[in-house]
Amino acid sequence: MESPGGNNRMRELAAKLRINQTLPDSELKEVLSETEQEALEVLYEHARQQCQLHYGKKIYARGLIEFTNYCRNNCYYCGIRRGNQNVQRYRLSKEEIFSCVQEGYALGFRTFVLQGGEDLGFSAKDIGEIICRIKQSCPGCAVTLSFGEWEREVYQYWYDCGADRYLLRHETADEEHYRILHPEEMSLLKRKECLAQLKEIGYQTGAGFMVGSPGQTLDTLIADLRYLQQLQPHMAGIGPFIPQKDTPFAKEASGTLVMTLKLLAVVRLMLPKVLLPATTALGTIHPQGREMGILAGANVVMPNLSPVSVRKQYQLYDHKISTGEESAQGRQLLEKRVHSIGYELCMCRGDSKM
Ligand code: SAM
Repeated sequence: MESPGGNNRMRELAAKLRINQTLPDSELKEVLSETEQEALEVLYEHARQQCQLHYGKKIYARGLIEFTNYCRNNCYYCGIRRGNQNVQRYRLSKEEIFSCVQEGYALGFRTFVLQGGEDLGFSAKDIGEIICRIKQSCPGCAVTLSFGEWEREVYQYWYDCGADRYLLRHETADEEHYRILHPEEMSLLKRKECLAQLKEIGYQTGAGFMVGSPGQTLDTLIADLRYLQQLQPHMAGIGPFIPQKDTPFAKEASGTLVMTLKLLAVVRLMLPKVLLPATTALGTIHPQGREMGILAGANVVMPNLSPVSVRKQYQLYDHKISTGEESAQGRQLLEKRVHSIGYELCMCRGDSKM
């Protein structure tokens, strides 16, 4: 149904957000509460245009290597939490990690994202050696780590070994909401300290959050947006929460496609040059989720380079997609999808323009 009044209001709010890179809380809530498709199209179009201004029609591809599903943490939402007895645990050897990287390099990837649970089976030195080897043998590539919370000295050491970027979603910027999602032994303050340290050290730093996680409200989302504004990260990982059957949140609902798209668009308009992935989780809740994410302002995709034999074991949430175009080997399929919406897949390093 057409609602020209609603479109006009969204035109006003989206334009104001684009120009000022911020809105008062009440207007942000209005944007996030919008349900009318035509009004939402207005928002997405602004976000798309803003993204194209800085990144053209290039979508950066990153090769994702999920190198361990051991984790010392027990986050209530996560399928590889320490307390999940039903996960078959795996840890790739340095050789296995390196052969994934070589395969990716041959496929054209120039950014590798090493992601894992906080696995004490790897020493800081082990990770340092992996980084050095990748940087030495794959000229021109970038290494991104997504490996959780460690001491500042460890982050510095990995940076000195050549790591370029670090992804550490803050998950929620609201203390009470943080407590709903995490056990007592974890702390939001520590998470934020880690993010501040990563930025200070010089990493291209990524924060972010799940959309629709249990206990999330418009107020906690506003807190997330304000935190991103304050941190000014180079990257923001924003994807839907999806329940995993062996976690305390097994019976909770997934985050919705529309709320995720609205948040991608709002974050693009608040942080115009941010690197914003159209996540695997978005592709899991809707077959065209990632294309829609791109059309709402996202500009990164992260196909999976992990060995096929372990992909099912990195089950952060149920029904996670891991073959087809989300696998790095399915690059041509992914390229086709990206072309179908008028964009091109870029295998370059794809640094942030910040
Ligand atoms: N251990 C590292 C860390 O804490 O950043 C990286 C691995 S962790 C599994 C990567 C991300 O997966 C988390 O930041 C979280 O947002 C996401 N994740 C975990 N469980 C999820 C779920 N049920 N639905 C959607 N995303 C989830």
